[in-house]
Amino acid sequence: MKPSLCHLTPLRADIVSTAQRAYHSGLMAGTSGNLSCYDPESGCMAITPSNMDYSVMTPEDIVLMQLDGTVLDGGKPSSEWKMHAELYQNLPEVRAVVHTHSPNATAYAVLRREIPCVLVEMLLFLGGSIEVAAYAAQGSAAVGTHCLPILRRKPACLLANHGVVTTGATLEQAYTNSIYVEDSAKIVRLAMSTGSPIPAVIDEEGSKPYHE
Ligand code: 13P
Ligand code: ZN
Repeated sequence: MKPSLCHLTPLRADIVSTAQRAYHSGLMAGTSGNLSCYDPESGCMAITPSNMDYSVMTPEDIVLMQLDGTVLDGGKPSSEWKMHAELYQNLPEVRAVVHTHSPNATAYAVLRREIPCVLVEMLLFLGGSIEVAAYAAQGSAAVGTHCLPILRRKPACLLANHGVVTTGATLEQAYTNSIYVEDSAKIVRLAMSTGSPIPAVIDEEGSKPYHE
């Protein structure tokens, strides 16, 4: 590895531990899903490898690459690297992207149905309802392009017939958002098994971040 990329070593370790947390939290089945971080100083993206068992993944397996697809260190990057690159190129505040196939949220993605905003957490963390981006073939840059109209306004969306994408200023934030997407989908599904969930109307006091 080039000495100029050594400062990304802690980021690689962070990606592996976050990917393993996501896997153990049930956000991805098998080798599905992928995570990345972007370092604007070096123009380098660190991304999970393609088709690798999360339980055996090590920091050295995390691929360092430029947004044009040039691999700087590591093996085969995630097949969705173009989607990640597209998001970093167009969303200057975003430093981390998490893509999952979490089951409850993906159920909405295959129905191409928006998850309504029914919880305070959805408003505070996810910017309201979770909208569905137009369909694009897996692995194409269009997966990212189609998310942009939503991800410019909020840090989460569903990918039609595919899964979930969340963004963050940090990997921890993008990961937490992916947990809240799945939790919201699960709660709405549970509520719908008994009745019709009522959209959240949250006053000014209730919409203040309660963890600050
Ligand atoms: P990769 O293993 O290539 O990252 O693919 C997983 C995935 O979720 C494709 O959409
Ligand atoms: Zn996927």
